[in-house]
Amino acid sequence: MSGINSGDTMSENIKRIIAANREYAREFGDKGKLGIIPARKIAILTCMDARIEPIRLAGLGVGDAHIVRNAGGRASDDAIRSLIISSRLVGTNEWLVIHHTACGIENLTQEKMAEKAGGAHKSGEGDYINWLTIKDRVQSVKDDVKRLRDHPLTPKDVSVSGFIYDIETGLLNEVDCG
Ligand SMILES: [Zn+2]
Repeated sequence: MSGINSGDTMSENIKRIIAANREYAREFGDKGKLGIIPARKIAILTCMDARIEPIRLAGLGVGDAHIVRNAGGRASDDAIRSLIISSRLVGTNEWLVIHHTACGIENLTQEKMAEKAGGAHKSGEGDYINWLTIKDRVQSVKDDVKRLRDHPLTPKDVSVSGFIYDIETGLLNEVDCG
C-alpha cells in the first residue's frame, strides 16, 4: 500500500505499538463481525486518565458501549455532540457520567490552567478556553448529569446517572443526582 510507513522513521514508541498490534490482530477472532450498535445500549462519559479502564470496570466487553473521554469526563459541548450522536444514530439510552478521585484537573482553576496552557507563548489563547476544572467532585458529577438531562437535544428515553470511580480501590460509587 502506498503511504504506509516502512518503519525507518518510526519512533520506538510507534514501533512497539505496531508490533503489539500485529499480535492483537492475530488474536482478533470474530470481532470483525460486531455490529455498529453497542450491544448494551450504554454510553460512558469519563476522564482520559490513564488509570481508568471504563470497559472493564463496568463489566463490559468490546461492542457493548460507547466511551467518550476528555479531561475530567466533563459534559463539554463536544462530549454532548458525541452523546447525542450515540443516542440518535445507534440508540444508546443509558448514559453514565464517571468522574474520579485524584483527577488531574481537581486542583486547578480556570485561571491557573489558562496560565499553564499559555506557557512561554503568552498568546492569550489559554483564556478563551473553558477548561472545566473541578472544585468539588460530587458537584461536578451532579452538574454534568444535570446538563445532559436538561439538554434540549437529549432524547426523552435516555437515562443519565452519575458516579465517582475510586482510583485506589477500583470501586464505582453512585452519586445521588436526584
Ligand atoms: Zn481525571
